[in-house]
Amino acid sequence: MERSITSFHLNRFREWVADLDCGHEVRMLHNPPYLSCSWVATAKGRQSHIGDVQECVNCEMPELPEGVKLQEKSPLYQRDTIPIHMSSGYKMEAGVWARVVVKKGLLQFLIHSEPPQGFVLDEHLEGVLAPEVGHDIKPAMGAVEFYVEYYHE
Ligand SMILES: [Zn+2]
Repeated sequence: MERSITSFHLNRFREWVADLDCGHEVRMLHNPPYLSCSWVATAKGRQSHIGDVQECVNCEMPELPEGVKLQEKSPLYQRDTIPIHMSSGYKMEAGVWARVVVKKGLLQFLIHSEPPQGFVLDEHLEGVLAPEVGHDIKPAMGAVEFYVEYYHE
C-alpha cells in the first residue's frame, strides 16, 4: 500500500527509519543498486524527502475480523521453545484466527497466500493468522519472545 513519509528517526541499530502516515516504519537501508538512499544520512536529504510516497508492506497484514472472541493464549515462547509445527505451514482451522504478539526481538512471518507475503514482526507489528492459510513463524536473529492468541468466530 502506498503511504507517505512524515518523519525519520534512528533505530537502536543506528539505522535510519522512515515514519509513515499509517503508523508503520520502513528501514531506509542504502543498498545499491537495489535501493539507493544515501540522502538519508544528511538532515537536508531527509528534510527533502518528507512527504515522499513509500510502499508499506506492513499495511498488507490481514486484520482480525470484528466480533471474534479470544479463546486461548499460548505461553511465552522463546527461540528454543517455539513449537516445531509453527515453522512450516502452520494453519488455523476454519473459524479460528490467531494473533502473534512479539515482546522482544524479531520474528519472520510468512503467509502462504498467492503470492506469498513476508513480514518481520517486532514489538510494533503483530502477525495475524487467517483460518485455513499456511504460515511460517521463525526467529529472525538473536533472542526472541512472543505469544499467540487464538480467536474464534
Ligand atoms: Zn503501513
